[in-house]
Amino acid sequence: MDFSFNETQQMLRDTLARYLADTYDFDTRRKWIAGEAGRDPGIWRALATELGILGAPFAEAHGGLGGGAVENMIVMEQLGEAIAIEPYLQTVVIGGGALKAVGGAVADSVIPQIIAGDAVIAFAYAEPQGRYELSNLRTTARRDGAGWVLNGHKAVVYGAPWATHLLVTARTGGGQRDADGIGLFLVEANRPGIVRRDYPTVDGFRASEVYFEQCAVGAEALLGGEGDALPLIEQVVDEAVAALCAEATGVMRRLHTGTMDYAKQRKQFGRAIADFQVLQHRLVDMFMEVEQAVSMTLMATLRLGLPAAERSAAVSQAKARIGRGLRFTGQSAVQIHGGIGITDELAIGHYFKRATMIEGQFGSVDHHLARYEALALAD
Ligand SMILES: Cc1cc2nc3c(=O)[nH]c(=O)nc-3n(C[C@H](O)[C@H](O)[C@H](O)COP(=O)(O)OP(=O)(O)OC[C@H]3O[C@@H](n4cnc5c(N)ncnc54)[C@H](O)[C@@H]3O)c2cc1C
Repeated sequence: MDFSFNETQQMLRDTLARYLADTYDFDTRRKWIAGEAGRDPGIWRALATELGILGAPFAEAHGGLGGGAVENMIVMEQLGEAIAIEPYLQTVVIGGGALKAVGGAVADSVIPQIIAGDAVIAFAYAEPQGRYELSNLRTTARRDGAGWVLNGHKAVVYGAPWATHLLVTARTGGGQRDADGIGLFLVEANRPGIVRRDYPTVDGFRASEVYFEQCAVGAEALLGGEGDALPLIEQVVDEAVAALCAEATGVMRRLHTGTMDYAKQRKQFGRAIADFQVLQHRLVDMFMEVEQAVSMTLMATLRLGLPAAERSAAVSQAKARIGRGLRFTGQSAVQIHGGIGITDELAIGHYFKRATMIEGQFGSVDHHLARYEALALAD
């Protein structure tokens, strides 16, 4: 099988890699994170207008590059290498993915805004009691004339302080954990009745607790049908997990290469610590984890178009394997660096933090192993 990228995909990867190498150095990233906004919005604008990256997975009819999941994989891997704090996952992969899947007037209106860098989306799906269960929802959407009224609390909404739109899961009917009775809504982030408590996350992003208090939205806010959105949400989250796996490969690659470079120059007992065989073995094991992550990500990405059970099984397989790899490469990088590996001044600790957060995002290793087991045994 030929897994090589075509010319456009190579160009996409090389262009983004060059741009990030020129603009996204570690010290500049630290400065943005410490600033009030938590990022430089000019970067997002440049990704849209100078590089055209935000159109990578969208149809040419919407102004995109005509790509799909493979293009998202390429972009996310590069963003991972730079531990970039850009909301590509939330806006393009998740928001864009949901809009692509439902199509229609909202997609025709919002997708071009995403591509232009004008629309930034945050995914408000998790709730304090929900753990990784997408259907465990207390947030409600109650019919009100032609529109809806939202009430509830969404936890750790990544990128919400930067968002123009929130993609919200809410219960239109049924009990708290029912698969039926779930709706997906795209809501302007500045709508009356939305209250946010913003905070920085350990991996350099900004997130919010988002409270909907009698928030009235129009009929057009509902994406797809009333109460039958769970399969769509599961599809979008599977696409997000595959993209996160791609980001993880970029993070892990830098954990490995950064640690190897350090071990070659750090001297103890009169020798570079890379001379010690026990550390060489550890570095080789880290390299193997990176290569495994590349293969698993590709496998999951190429299976995103399969029927739901096969798609989800592949995605959970990849996330479980890569979750272990993230922990191993992250902890090994810190261990081999010694004490300096946990300082704020050195990049390696920041890669470790992002690796740790990815490990738990959209499901831990245990969650995805259990999900894979259930799907595999169902055959
Ligand atoms: C949270 C924290 C608090 C600390 N507090 C203090 C403190 O209060 N006072 C203080 O003096 N120090 C403190 N330290 C420093 C600590 O003592 C050192 O970090 C520790 O001894 C390791 O030394 P190093 O960081 O120089 O790592 P290095 O010696 O550079 O080791 C780096 C890596 O190389 C490996 N390595 C080194 N030599 C060999 C070898 N011969 N064979 C095989 N592998 C080898 C190590 O196992 C490690 O994986 C603290 C460190 C931390 C993380």
